[in-house]
Amino acid sequence: MTRDIAIDGPSGSGKTSVGLHVSKRLGLMFIDSGLLYRAFTAGYVEKFPDDQCLRDDHLSTILESSVAYESGGIVRFGGKMLTLSLHDLRIDLLVSPISAVPRVRASVNRELRRIAAVHDVVMVGRDIGTTVLPEALLKVFITADPQVRARRRVAQLERQGVTADFAAVLVNIHERDAIDSSREDSPLRCTDEYVIVDNSADGSEGVVQRIVSEYGRRLSHAV
Ligand code: C5P
Repeated sequence: MTRDIAIDGPSGSGKTSVGLHVSKRLGLMFIDSGLLYRAFTAGYVEKFPDDQCLRDDHLSTILESSVAYESGGIVRFGGKMLTLSLHDLRIDLLVSPISAVPRVRASVNRELRRIAAVHDVVMVGRDIGTTVLPEALLKVFITADPQVRARRRVAQLERQGVTADFAAVLVNIHERDAIDSSREDSPLRCTDEYVIVDNSADGSEGVVQRIVSEYGRRLSHAV
C-alpha cells in the first residue's frame, strides 16, 4: 500500500508551504517537483542567457543532462549545482514552455519516481496525482484567488531582495496557468479523486490540519 500524498495546484496557491508543514507533521519526505522543472530551465538560461523564448535547437543540448534531487530541496543539473536562483524571474518566464516538452517531463518523472520508490512522500506539483503518483493514498488540489497568488509571489521575490511589479507577476501567473492547463502531456487538471482545498486565506493552518486529518482517516481505513 502506498502512503504518499500528492498535492497539485496552480502557481502561488501555497501548495509548497502547505506541503512542507504536512510533511513535517506526518514525518514524510517533502518533494517540490517544480524545483526539478526550474533546474532544467536554469540549466537552459545559464547556457543561453540571451534567449527570450525557447529555441528547439538549444533545448536539445540541455536534454542531454539529467536532473537529481537531494533531501532538503538541493537540485543538481548535469551533476552540478546551479548558480542561478531557481526562483529567478528569468526562470519564471521560460519554465512553463520548457515543462511542456515531453522529454523534459519524462526525465523529471524518472527522478521523482526513483525517490518515491524508497520514501513515503508528500510531493507537490501539477500532475502528481494524475501522472507521477497515481496510486497516492491522498490527492489534494489546492486553489487560491489569482490576485492572492500574485501578492504571495511578489512577497517571495521581495524576501529574496528582488523588486517585482505586481501587474507583471499577475500576467506571468495567468500565462503559466494557461500553458500548464492546456499542454498535451499531463496538464494541470483536477479529477474526482482530489480533495479540493481553497487556500486564499492568509493562514494555512486550517488547510494543513484538514489534510493531516483526512490522511489519518484514510490510513486507518487502509490498514
Ligand atoms: O511549482 P512551481 O511554480 O515552482 O513550478 C514551476 C513550473 O514548473 C510550473 O509553472 C509548471 O510549468 C512546471 N511544473 C510542471 N509540473 C509539475 C511541477 C511544475 O509542469 N509537476
